[in-house]
Amino acid sequence: MFFGDYHIHTPRCGDAQGSYDEYIEEALRKGLSEIGFSGHCPQYFLPLEERGRESAIPEEELTLYVREVESLQEKYRSSITIRLGLEVDFVPGKEEELQSIVDFYSWDYLLLSVHYLGTWPFDNPQYLSGYRERDINEIYETYYQTLIAGMKTGFFSAVAHFDLPKKFGFRPAGEVKGEIEALQVCREQNLVIELNTAGRRKPVREFYPAAPILAQAQKLSLNVCLGSDAHRPEEVGEDFREALALLCRLGFDHIAGWEKGIAVLHPIS
Ligand SMILES: [Zn+2]
Ligand SMILES: [Zn+2]
Repeated sequence: MFFGDYHIHTPRCGDAQGSYDEYIEEALRKGLSEIGFSGHCPQYFLPLEERGRESAIPEEELTLYVREVESLQEKYRSSITIRLGLEVDFVPGKEEELQSIVDFYSWDYLLLSVHYLGTWPFDNPQYLSGYRERDINEIYETYYQTLIAGMKTGFFSAVAHFDLPKKFGFRPAGEVKGEIEALQVCREQNLVIELNTAGRRKPVREFYPAAPILAQAQKLSLNVCLGSDAHRPEEVGEDFREALALLCRLGFDHIAGWEKGIAVLHPIS
């Protein structure tokens, strides 16, 4: 059975621990058939002097990242398929700069992520006060509008951690404007939605996205992929059996993977 983790960070990202081999060994231990490295893309959206390596691959190391993963693809060829992608921050107005990262390599896939609203890194625990200074519903609405703009660029393969603003448990009241629209745009743009199991390890203690959003995605016939968002080797494939069971319960019968930008659907058996 196909069992793939498409959201795995690497020591090049700055905020991830362990070696590439440790991540791969863990994937083999958990019986995964395929994994994808999705390092944080260089911070193309910041002025050069402000770009850091704490949570991103430095621009000058992007070639190294590609070469390292290519050599691992070769090394583990007989035991596991390794795909090469990036987790890409989308920042409106910086599409031209982003284009150069998209064109840098023939990526197997690119994950669309929104981690910033304006200059506020809302999923960074050091900036939690932002949630107390703003209207929570407005945060979600702005987030979804940003996500939708990212989806419409046509650069991406999948949407990562779809309902990320819930990370620290700040919940909107009632219906969130933009949530359903974001799912519809996902469909229109032929994007896969990621079931990201990392939410379980965060204060919100649930997968991204929440089950009702996944149910809605299923109704819209969206395809789904699995990602652990591992920043440590032991997190690879975490809670995947439960995630697959949830997908089955909701009526999904396939999960997606990619090869050179082309989505491949695998039956969930
Ligand atoms: Zn992320
Ligand atoms: Zn990530």
